[in-house]
Amino acid sequence: MSARIIDGKAEAIRLRARIAEEAAQLKRSHGVVPGLAVVLVGDDPASEVYVRNKATQTREAGMASFEYRLPASLSERALLDLIEELNVRSDVNGILVQLPLPPHISAENVVNAIAPEKDVDGLHPTNAGLLAVGRPALVPCTPLGCVILAKTVHENLRGMDVVVVGRSSLVGRPAAQLFISESCTVTVAHSATRDLPAVCRRADILLVAVGRPLLVKADWIKPGATVIDVGINRVAKDSGGTRLVGDVAFEEAVQVAGAITPVPGGVGPMTIACLLANTITSTKLRLGLQLAA
Ligand code: NAD
Repeated sequence: MSARIIDGKAEAIRLRARIAEEAAQLKRSHGVVPGLAVVLVGDDPASEVYVRNKATQTREAGMASFEYRLPASLSERALLDLIEELNVRSDVNGILVQLPLPPHISAENVVNAIAPEKDVDGLHPTNAGLLAVGRPALVPCTPLGCVILAKTVHENLRGMDVVVVGRSSLVGRPAAQLFISESCTVTVAHSATRDLPAVCRRADILLVAVGRPLLVKADWIKPGATVIDVGINRVAKDSGGTRLVGDVAFEEAVQVAGAITPVPGGVGPMTIACLLANTITSTKLRLGLQLAA
């Protein structure tokens, strides 16, 4: 049997269309154009591609995009000054500082300087804390996308056994919190977990966010389980050049799982769509509007 392939690209297109409608509605009813500021420090080529895609998709959704491309030599003080300026601007609803930052700048100081109500990456300790106490406001984009994809397979996640492999503050931890909020029974596994394959085999939903190419094999997966592969790893091809693979050995896993996200084309496209969704959320919070369930 071959698993259903979860089409993250198609789901992201649907989500972006809903966001564009919400942006148009905010403009009609409140005269507000949601604005997203994206700050890139240095010239990392991968980060440059992400920033360009974010800006394009922001504009396509009818929102305003403000991009700041700054030299790698920028001081931490200058970056904090820019964030303070963006924090008080009424046309900026969301602020995202592209990580990683050059080594002389503390990512922690920078994330902490962003006003929590504009922290569309959901990384500020206030937003992480709200998520941990079950009052999610702005939540990290990638885990949010993972939950949306899981819900395309299971309308109601209540009572499901979820195993999250990886405990980063960007993906694993917030993903675990989101699944708890969906009334799942959640296990978080990581590099010190004993007998990881056996832990994974308990999962109705297995989310893997490790960064190790093809770590999870077919016999780690319970037959019929839903597998969400967050990993993005560039590996050498036998025929020369490189290709992207996930943390799950897709070709064998697809024979066992009930549903699975491919890499690329699974979780990846959802991340920017969720960033735009968070920008709409922060705009609505500022206007005191009800958030969609
Ligand atoms: P990270 O390095 O911060 O965290 C990795 C986690 O995996 C750690 O908690 C560690 O304990 C755990 N781990 C490491 N080796 C392990 C092992 N052998 N067995 C079990 N657990 C192990 O990484 P991250 O930022 O969470 O990213 C994870 C992966 O997801 C990377 O490949 C990254 O590129 C990808 N990613 C994708 C998106 C997206 O939009 N699709 C977004 C963020 C990250």
